[in-house]
Amino acid sequence: MANENELYDVIIIGGGPTGLFAAFYSGMRDMKTKVIESNSRLGGKVAQFYPEKYLYDIGGIPKISGEELVGQMIKQASKHDPAIVYGQYVENIVKQEDGTFTLTTNTEEKHYAKTVIIATGFGIYEAERLSSANASIYEDSQINYTINNMEKFSGKTVMVVSPNRVGVDWALALESVAQRVIVVNGNGAFQHMGDGDEERLNESSVEVKMFSQVAELIGSGQQLEAAKIVDQSTGEEEVISVDQLLVYQGISFKPAPFQHWDLRTEKNKITVDAGMSANIEGIFAAGDAVHYSNKSMLIASGYTEASTAVNSAKSYINPKASAQVYSTVVYKNE
Ligand SMILES: Cc1cc2nc3c(=O)[nH]c(=O)nc-3n(C[C@H](O)[C@H](O)[C@H](O)COP(=O)(O)OP(=O)(O)OC[C@H]3O[C@@H](n4cnc5c(N)ncnc54)[C@H](O)[C@@H]3O)c2cc1C
Repeated sequence: MANENELYDVIIIGGGPTGLFAAFYSGMRDMKTKVIESNSRLGGKVAQFYPEKYLYDIGGIPKISGEELVGQMIKQASKHDPAIVYGQYVENIVKQEDGTFTLTTNTEEKHYAKTVIIATGFGIYEAERLSSANASIYEDSQINYTINNMEKFSGKTVMVVSPNRVGVDWALALESVAQRVIVVNGNGAFQHMGDGDEERLNESSVEVKMFSQVAELIGSGQQLEAAKIVDQSTGEEEVISVDQLLVYQGISFKPAPFQHWDLRTEKNKITVDAGMSANIEGIFAAGDAVHYSNKSMLIASGYTEASTAVNSAKSYINPKASAQVYSTVVYKNE
């Protein structure tokens, strides 16, 4: 078991695209690395907001789904076996007299490092939970707040509970893999629909239940079997067999506490120099968390910034270290 009091060369806060690439790259630089991710899974906004969508702007990869990209990023990040801590939100970063950092999380655990790379994006997003009675029984198995694994829905009856375009997008993405898709919307219209969304929905095999709400979840033991929905305009009840529920009812956002960490910010993001150093020596930042002139909010930018941040952290620990890894072709058959 890992020694929790161990001093790491670098702690990376955030396991999104930037943090994952930083974890891979710091392994290449022979740095003892730990990643702390507040969520129960890695992948950041890609995993949370668009796992089922395709990305076309990752260099060298013409087309890849968010889910596949997250899988590849995790595989790459794992190459040098970094320590990964899930479900802990970093609340405090304190620089000690000896120059090392002590990080404290919401679970009151402490983590120790010579350098810190902040890859938190803007902060954390939490999905609004389904409030139906006994929903908590099925939360981890059959109630989903994003599509992070298409396979899970393959051949299944999926009920999408959402008053929003996000739910419509999900339903349409699942149409080709699921056996049956039903969208349940408590309102009379979907919010934020774009051009052609209404038509795409009408032309699809997705069933839509407007003015309807999930009144009760029915199952045996830990197994969800059906959902009772009520049409609020008529009072009519219907019990529908379901295998999986997919819920989008909005998200809450908690901004990253950069000022609380005494970091200089602009537009609520950390200002960095060309080496991705923040105003506290030994703290570096990358990805959506940072601001500089002409910064772009792209995965590709996060990757570059992550490797720069890691190289700077390496030089900070060992000023005689080479400035970068000049080639990875040493990895032959792996
Ligand atoms: C709908 C949508 C579509 C997009 N499409 C594209 C696209 O096609 N191409 C592209 O290049 N970019 C796209 N982007 C932007 C891209 O997703 C971001 O640039 C990228 O996710 C930034 O990665 P990151 O790791 O810096 O931050 P994030 O992805 O935000 O990851 C930050 C991670 O840090 C964790 N975290 C935050 N605070 C703490 C804390 N205090 N303690 C512990 N963990 C913490 C969070 O839980 C999260 O997992 C899109 C974004 C959205 C929302």
